[in-house]
Order: sequence, then structure tokens, then C-alpha cells
Amino acid sequence: MSNAGSNSFSRLRGLLGGGKSGAVQKAAPLPTGDELKQAVLLLRDYESSGLGWFWASDNEGRISYVSDCVAECLGRPRAEIIGNPVQSLFILERDEDDGHERTLPLILSARKTFSDLNVRAALDGGEIWWSISGRPQFDGDGSFVGYRGNGTDITAQRQNNKDASRLAQYDSLTGLANRHRMGKRLDSTLIAYQSAKRCCAIMMIDLDRFKQVNDTLGHPAGDELLKQVASRLQRVVTDKGCEIGRLGGDEFQIMIPDIDDRGRLGEIAKTIITMVSQPYQIEGSRCVIGASIGIAIAPYDGINSEELVRSADLALYASKGGGRGQFRFYSSDLHSEAERRRQIEEDLRDALQSDQLRLAYQPIVDTKTNKVVTLETLARWDHPELGPISPGVFIPIAEEANLIGALGDWSLRRACEEASQLPGGVKVAVNVSASQFSNPGFASLVAQALAHSGLPPERLELELTESIFLGDSQATKEMFNALKLLGVRLALDDFGTGYSSLSYLQHAPFDKIKIDQSFIRGLTQEGNRNGAIIAAIVSLAKALNMDTTAEGIEAHDELAAMQKLGVGQIQGYIYASAVPFDEVCEALASGEWVIEPDGPSKYRQERRTVLRKVGLIHEDHRYEATMRNLSRSGCMVEGLLDVPEGTPFVVDFGEGQLAVARVRRSAGSTQGLEFEQQLVDDGAGGLCTRHRVSPYVLAQAGMPLGALPTGQYPMQLMQQPGMALSLPKFGQAEAIKPKIKAA
Ligand code: C2E
Ligand code: MG
Ligand code: MG
Repeated sequence: MSNAGSNSFSRLRGLLGGGKSGAVQKAAPLPTGDELKQAVLLLRDYESSGLGWFWASDNEGRISYVSDCVAECLGRPRAEIIGNPVQSLFILERDEDDGHERTLPLILSARKTFSDLNVRAALDGGEIWWSISGRPQFDGDGSFVGYRGNGTDITAQRQNNKDASRLAQYDSLTGLANRHRMGKRLDSTLIAYQSAKRCCAIMMIDLDRFKQVNDTLGHPAGDELLKQVASRLQRVVTDKGCEIGRLGGDEFQIMIPDIDDRGRLGEIAKTIITMVSQPYQIEGSRCVIGASIGIAIAPYDGINSEELVRSADLALYASKGGGRGQFRFYSSDLHSEAERRRQIEEDLRDALQSDQLRLAYQPIVDTKTNKVVTLETLARWDHPELGPISPGVFIPIAEEANLIGALGDWSLRRACEEASQLPGGVKVAVNVSASQFSNPGFASLVAQALAHSGLPPERLELELTESIFLGDSQATKEMFNALKLLGVRLALDDFGTGYSSLSYLQHAPFDKIKIDQSFIRGLTQEGNRNGAIIAAIVSLAKALNMDTTAEGIEAHDELAAMQKLGVGQIQGYIYASAVPFDEVCEALASGEWVIEPDGPSKYRQERRTVLRKVGLIHEDHRYEATMRNLSRSGCMVEGLLDVPEGTPFVVDFGEGQLAVARVRRSAGSTQGLEFEQQLVDDGAGGLCTRHRVSPYVLAQAGMPLGALPTGQYPMQLMQQPGMALSLPKFGQAEAIKPKIKAA
């Protein structure tokens, strides 16, 4: 309200006999003559200014006066309004913001003064809000004669306030909750849930390769992509009580109350990753990104929001390090894993300089002649302390730490140099990561490596993955053209793991498609449809004049299937794994290298062999055992003697992971156990239990309430003070018995 308005209003208020205090006041003597005329004119003037309005009621709470503008606003003649209860002017519902309205009838019946009460006008359509004030009036004897008051329209102001509070709580780009709101909601939820002993999961989501889209297609395209990601997340996560937020950049967070089932959370995470990884149409360009997810669950992985977010962040860091497009659950191991990754990252810088890296060569063999036609170079790193580190580990770290440019440059030069020393016309294939490819100077690096080594360009094959097709940008096309002009060969690597769009094949000048080993696995099993898909790829490749290579062939049944499907070349352990350069030189001494396939007749899924200590709990005893292998439905343990079949156990995997199991097979000190409830994927290629011992249960047993402590501890739960322990039923095998120190 303007100053002029409030001044004229206070003058009117004076004329109408209003005072600030709520004390009983005597009505001021009525003005007469000119004064009265002046007062009425001022009143009309004020009422018609739209700045406010007046109302009055009788001693029974019925409206005796109301400004015209109120009648107009309600769309009813004034005569109809007069005589109705004051409350009939308003919709008496609770105002979410200040909870005021319900109190109006109470105030009126108590004959109290009130001011600036927010009320909603009794309108059928639309929404109008007023701020009203009122003062009780008394006659000369002190008897209540009714109310007089005023009101102003605050609809616009309320809307502004609402917009401002929305802005403060929601992300203006995507409409999702912002960091501030997510933090507050998580805080208040976790505090409330702690006393109700409820659980709550959070997922931290980070988009893979978003930066490249932003850099290549520009920021408006990046913004559009974020909006589309947000709406996909909203379609996947619809459970009641969930909230999705964007914390900034390409980082999202989802709060999922009342789920601690890691099987279900893993499924949600997988669905999110699949949905986010589907191609996007942005300003006419097609682009593809991925997502990595870290999951933490309260109270197991943290009881307050700070701890929980830290745990989920660490899980996210691990999932990105694991090669992206994955989810990971928090576990305390991740602290040491993160430490290891940091060390690897640090040491990788030195490794490049101090010649710790070398290239190994894996033969790619012609299916018909068994002749080695190409050698794929695979980076190998023998860490001075940690031993050999797989490229599956250090390549993603190099990408994350911006070292892939230097590493890629090194492997390209080294591969060209070494290949140029080989007799015969064998080709050499070099892996090129998407970030190397997107460097505008990449083609000239290739040209330099060729010129420096003297290797003919047609003997160099560059292996590219589908991730280079981020946005069908001009830059990608130009890079393809530049490389083709150099005369090098291009192969599409890992086909079948990404988005496998056949349209890539039509538009990009590839000379070869490499079918990923995940496509080969299970191919020879009944009902598997990969065979039909490979057949389609092979015929398309033939039509487009491209070679095909199948990766990861290990067994004769797989090789036979590939031959039948017409795949031209094979790479896999059935011929050879990657060998050092010296061995390649020896094998190629005659200028030709022919390898006879050698491997198992049938592909057998590798049992997950694990060697790990576990606890076996039977009655009130805990035994130590070694787990030899593990599957979803059971495990093999060694350590207890003569356990009858059918014996029930609780297997303690540590960190609150308990699985109820029964002995199905038993021989000497080895038992095969079957779990009552199957284990679930842990996102990192391993298995975990769906549920864990709840910290609330541990707290009941006397432990302080906190995130799950590391190690094995369920006996603390079972051994209550004063409880008589029974004798152990089973003997512990010698090798496993804990060593007792001599006194
Ligand atoms: P990739 O390019 O798909 O390479 C093939 C991988 O499959 C290699 O793993 C190879 O050892 C493995 N392999 C080959 N035959 C078989 C088989 O019969 N069975 C099984 N189970 N595996 C087989 P590796 O050496 O661990 O390399 C992993 C990935 O690391 C490579 O996948 C490649 O993407 C990346 N990489 C390796 N060296 C470099 C490099 O110098 N630069 C870049 N950018 N990436 C590299
Ligand atoms: Mg490769
Ligand atoms: Mg590959």
C-alpha cells in the first residue's frame, strides 16, 4: 500500500473511531454538518480507489455495512450481503501458509480486536485473498454493538510471496526441488523417521558425458537436455513421498522413504539408468548420455542427512570409477576403494612419465584361415606396489582425471612405433576414447604418429565406441572426414553394449564392427535371441562392405556359432589372450601367424569364486568359516566338521548382512548352503543381501544408534547379559580355528 493510501486510511480510521489498542473504547462523538459530509466523501474516495474497503457488523455478528467493491468482487448485490453472518464473506478453510482463517469465528465470538488476518473471499471461481482487520464497538454503557473494520486485497502480494518461496525452493530450469529444499526435506524426514524407526533411501545421480553435450551443442541444448532428464526421472520415480531434486549442474538426488530393500532399490536404479540412457532429440540433434548412481540408506549408512549424503556421494564416486552407467550401494569398503582410486589417479601421472605402462597385443583371427589379421593393443600397467592394474580400472580413472589425452597419445604413438617393426602386413588396432576423439587436434596427432613411425595408414585401425556419437554434431562428421582422408581404418568397438543404433552404421564410415562379448555370452543357450541379432548385423555389415569381429570367444561352441553366422574375424581366449610385444615379434618372425583354436568345448558360466571369511551362526554359537563360492541362491563354506544336512544357519557376511540358510550338502569340512532368500546385485558385479540388521535393533540391544559399524557383530545382539550359553554343536576345522595366543 502506498504512503498516500495509508495516510488517507489512517485519517479515515480516526474518523471512524478506530484505535490501535484492543481495549474497550467509547464511540467517538459523531461528526456533524460539513465534517460529516467531508468524512463521507473521503470514505467514498478511499473505497473507490481500490486501496481498501470497510465492513461493519451488528451485535449478533451480521453484516451491517460493506463497501461496494466487496459486493462487486463477490458478484452479489450489496443488499443480499447485508444481514448475513460476517463469516459468509469468506471461505473458511485453513490457509496453508499461516493457518489463520479458522480462527476468525473464534475471534469474532470473543469480541477481540484483530488485524491483518488473511482470508479467502467466498468466490465460486477464481481465488481472491484479503487481509482484514476489525475492532469491536461498544456504546456508552459498555455494551457490544458490533464490529467495524477494513480490508485490503492481497491476492497479488500473496502470489508474489508464493513465487518467491517457490523460487527459493525449486530449480527454475527443471521445476524439481533445489538443493536447499532437498536438504531441508531430508533433514526433517530423517529426524522424524528416527523416532518412528523408519528407513529412507537416497540416490545421487550424476549424468555421464553431460559436459560433452554442453560443450559441443552449447548451453541452451544442455539446459534442454536437463529438462528432459528431469521429466524422465519424474516418470520413473512416482512412489508416494519420493522427492526428486536437482542439486546443481548435472547432479540429481532422489529421496525414497520407507525402502531398505536393496533388491528393489537396485531395480529402481537400473530403470533410471536405462531411461536416462535412451537417446534424446535436442534442437534437431540426437544425443546420448548415461547416468551413474550412488545409493545410501538411513539408518544403515548414516542416520542424519549429512552422513547419508556423504555415503551416497562416496557410492556415486565408486560407480563412476567403475566405468559409469552403473549403480553402487554404499559400503564401508568404499572408503578404502576411494583411497585406492585416489592413489591410482596420482600414480598414473607418474606412470606415464616413468614408463610403467606397456602395450599388450591380442590377436584378431580370420575365422576361415585362422590367420592373425589384426592385433588389438591393450594398455597394461604394472604398478610398483599394487601389482598389475586392469585397464578396466585405470582407463575410467584416466578419463575422469583428464589424463586420457596423454595416455591415448602415448598408446597411439607406441602402437604405431611397435607395429612398424613387425614383418608382414598385420594391422594394429588402437582404442580411442570419446574424449580423445572430440579433441579437434586428434586427426593431426594420428597423422604425426603415422609420420613418425612410418606405419602405412591402412595398417592402423582406430577402435571407437558409440559414445562418440554425442549429438550428431558437425565436429563428429568433420573428424570422421579428416581421419578417412588420412587413410586409417575405423572400427566400431563394443557394439551391443551401448545404444546399438544401426543408423550409426549407415552414416559413419566404419570399416569394421566389433560385436561385444556381452552379446556373445549365452548365445549358445536355448531360447537366446542374440544369434538372430548377430545374423542381422552381419548381413548389414556385408551390405555396407564392413568387416565383422566377434569379441570374447572362449569356447568351441561359440566359435562354431560365429562361423555359422558368417562372422569374419574372431578375438578371444580360444585363440589367444593379449601377449607382450616380444612374443608377437617371435610369432610373426615368418611374417605370418596362424593359431589353432584351443578352448573348452562349451562355454560355462564362471562360478564366482570368492575366498572370504564369513561367520556361521547356529543356536547361540558363532563359528568362523571360509566361503569358497557364492551364487544368488547359496554358497559353499569350509570350516565346520560333520554338519548334518538340513542344519539351519545364519550366514554373517559382515556389515549387518545376514542370510538365513540351510545345509543342502555336507562332506567333511565342506558344506553347501542354500539361502532362504536370494541375494541381489550389488551393482558392482557382486552380490549382497536384500536387507541388513537394522541399527534400530542394534540400539535396542544396547549399542548406540548410528550407521552400521563395520565388521561382524550379530553375536552382540544374541548374547544378552546373564544368558546361559549352550555347548557348541560342531567342531571347527583346524585351519580355520582362531589362533589362541600363548599366555
Ligand atoms: P575392449 O577394447 O573391448 O578390449 C577387449 C577386452 O576384452 C580386453 O580387456 C580383452 O583382454 C578382453 N578379452 C579378449 N578376449 C576375451 C575373452 O575371450 N574372454 C574375456 N572374458 N575377455 C576377453 P582389457 O584388456 O581388460 O581391456 C578392457 C578395456 O579397456 C578395453 O576393452 C578398452 O576399452 C580399454 N582399453 C584398453 N587399453 C586401452 C587404451 O590404450 N586406450 C583406451 N582408450 N582404452 C583402452
Ligand atoms: Mg577395443
Ligand atoms: Mg571391445
